[in-house]
Formats: sequence, structure tokens, C-alpha cells
Amino acid sequence: MKNKDCCSICSSRTDDGIYLLRVYICHSCEKEMIQTSADDPKYQYFIDQMSKAQRSVIVS
Ligand SMILES: [Zn+2]
Repeated sequence: MKNKDCCSICSSRTDDGIYLLRVYICHSCEKEMIQTSADDPKYQYFIDQMSKAQRSVIVS
């Protein structure tokens, strides 16, 4: 039985995501991130979630 990975941004379990900087994100978050411009506050949210997740990857 294959465990589905948990998206670091929306916490949904999916197996169609990708690893970005060793952080797992689902396909829909990846798409949303690409479509969000860098001056959008939402973009900063993505970055925050990513760096939080990345820190926990390094610690564990
Ligand atoms: Zn997601």
C-alpha cells in the first residue's frame, strides 16, 4: 500500500504532486503558485509555507 504524500501548502493528500526544494506540493498548488505574481500577498503565503515545510524537512 502506497502512502500518499501530504501537500505542504493545503495539506491535502495527493499522489500527483511534485517535490519543490524537497517540499512536497500538490499539482493544484503548484499551478496556483505559478499563476500568482510575486507582488501578490498570496505569493508570500506560498513562500512562507514552503520555507516552514523546508525547515521541518531539514530538522527531521
Ligand atoms: Zn496543495
